[in-house]
Amino acid sequence: MCIAQKVQALTSSLPDRVTLVAVSKFHPVESIREAYDAGQRVFGESRVQELKAKQPALPDDIEWHFIGTLQRNKVKDIAPFIHTIHSLDSIKLLEEVHKQAAKHERVIRLLLEIHVAQEETKQGLTPEECMELLAHWKQGEYPFIRITGIMGMATDTEDETLIRKEFRTLHQVFCDIKQQFFKDDDSFQEISMGMSHDYPIAVEEGSTLIRVGTFIFGQRKY
Ligand SMILES: *Cc1c(COP(=O)(O)O)cnc(C)c1O
Repeated sequence: MCIAQKVQALTSSLPDRVTLVAVSKFHPVESIREAYDAGQRVFGESRVQELKAKQPALPDDIEWHFIGTLQRNKVKDIAPFIHTIHSLDSIKLLEEVHKQAAKHERVIRLLLEIHVAQEETKQGLTPEECMELLAHWKQGEYPFIRITGIMGMATDTEDETLIRKEFRTLHQVFCDIKQQFFKDDDSFQEISMGMSHDYPIAVEEGSTLIRVGTFIFGQRKY
């Protein structure tokens, strides 16, 4: 199957509540264009330099999501156009995104990155750290950002029982945060989980945003 066929097959297999973020990191603009021409509008990148180079070369109606670790000093480079940042893990990053979004008078959406996987190297907040961050957070003080949900990854394993358990935990963390901090906020609604090898399980466990690269674009060349 070519890129266009993969995008169409994947999109048509998803329930309505799930949006595909096509992860195009390390793939050229021509490949993104192929997916775009097949109707895909939401793309994810994980490196600022790369995204900065690709964005001007592609149509304006693409919704760009940043899915990698984001250094504070690079927020300004993507603030003019980024739609959602999936990797919020500190108040300092939140404040920088707010400052840069304010300069452009636009609202940037943020997902709290939650760590539930077993690998120690994975980024993100523990559920406890996340609750602590939110205890200091007041929507009224940050009009140029909106926290719209959470993002997480399962352990990189063949063990489907473990993967499912971790996605279930993420869903539960989402519900706890919603209940405690965003009860009356309809825009807090996203659970970003699921990649090429585990997205079907993530969808079953309540994902609303899947981040799929390899399945669509093939292996990345580093
Ligand atoms: C690269 C990446 C993906 C996509 O992974 P695939 O296995 O290629 O689908 C998803 N999420 C994050 C955070 C990534 O860095």
